Amino acid sequence: MKILAVNCGSSTVKFQLFETSAERAERNEDRALARGMVDKVGAADSSVSFEPAGADKQTIRRPIRDHHEAVEASLATLTESGNGLLRDLSEIAGVGHRVVHGGEYYSDSVLFDDEVERRVEECVELAPLHNPHNLTGYRAVKALLPRCPNVAVFDTAFHQTIPRRAFLYALPLELYSEHKIRRYGFHGTSHRYVSQRYAQIHGAGLENLKLIACHLGNGCSMTAIDRGRSVDNTLGLTPIEGLVMGTRPGDVDPGVVLHLMSDLKMTVEEVTELLNKRSGLLGLSGETNDMRSLMQASEAGDERARLAIEIFCYRIKKYIGAYLAALNGADAILFTGGIGENAPAIRARACEALDALGVALDPGRNERARGAEAEISADGAKVKAWVIPTNEELLIARETMRCISVPGVSGVCACSKNDC
Ligand code: ADP
Repeated sequence: MKILAVNCGSSTVKFQLFETSAERAERNEDRALARGMVDKVGAADSSVSFEPAGADKQTIRRPIRDHHEAVEASLATLTESGNGLLRDLSEIAGVGHRVVHGGEYYSDSVLFDDEVERRVEECVELAPLHNPHNLTGYRAVKALLPRCPNVAVFDTAFHQTIPRRAFLYALPLELYSEHKIRRYGFHGTSHRYVSQRYAQIHGAGLENLKLIACHLGNGCSMTAIDRGRSVDNTLGLTPIEGLVMGTRPGDVDPGVVLHLMSDLKMTVEEVTELLNKRSGLLGLSGETNDMRSLMQASEAGDERARLAIEIFCYRIKKYIGAYLAALNGADAILFTGGIGENAPAIRARACEALDALGVALDPGRNERARGAEAEISADGAKVKAWVIPTNEELLIARETMRCISVPGVSGVCACSKNDC
């Protein structure tokens, strides 16, 4: 069946059309037929790009006023005469939407209906930069394809299995019970995809594996996965906690925020901007949040770039140690995301001098592994290390297929204790 995966951001709409089925997914033979993106929605220089599998990317500059128009333009690319992808939009069996925050409501993907829409709306306060746009995308598809089922695939759902000891902050408990302040964890779709793929490659059941997944892109997070279930993730109530990221700092003493506001007289808006847009690799280097550029600058002798990379890698190493403790050892560490997939030097530094914990990379294998699935650990290493390129859109398509194939599927967690 043909499934469309949609990822709607503040000024972009990214989409991929997949041909999938349960059998193809089982054999990892489901593939994208085409991908595309509407960029700079609402701006004067917006554009629509489209790339059928195996063909060149075409980009057309044209004004796109809003997300409704962007989704309309995306759908139009799929039926354009000559590309042979779809005769008619009714061939799309379902549309899967990336939704960043499902709060505690959803521990699985779910058919998108009015109730889900209302709950995603409720979670806007937890993800103000993402959920509103995810909802806009859903509403546009619903209006343009009224008979097509939609599915919500949540970044947070995979992490709903994190136990209380790992998701509660040591704050007055009422802040959780009354205000839902807790660790939610993010990047769940990516962590879930790479862990499933590792099990598939090894012909092993996820229920027999303990894995540490490292998603290192612009946003970065790690997940401890115990027999297929997320038991900890470095991101928290918001996607600021944990690892050093492109523009976000990861772990910071909350006292720093108090100091910024009381002594430096920064406003909430200024601190929010500092923590989301001006920290991390960008803040440390003073130059860029782009790891490729930082590595070049560091090699050219830029001391701040070198320091930014050192801090970035040390934080990953620290969490590898923490998650090896949380899991009591692991079968493998998985690297994914733009940096995790393509930067051998970063992987090497993050795993440096961890042999006491059973982690050791093979320098040659690590150096050769760029953007493709590959083992990078040394022979005999107790904890294997692998590069597994992520494919969140494919997981969204598979989840959509699964949800529309099982009538009445619901992602509401049956566990009232949230300690499942
Ligand atoms: P996003 O989180 O926006 O999806 P990506 O997963 O694409 O981001 O990761 C972007 C990051 O990956 C950038 O910091 C980029 O510099 C880095 N990156 C991509 N290719 C390489 C490479 N060959 N070497 C080092 N870093 C890379």
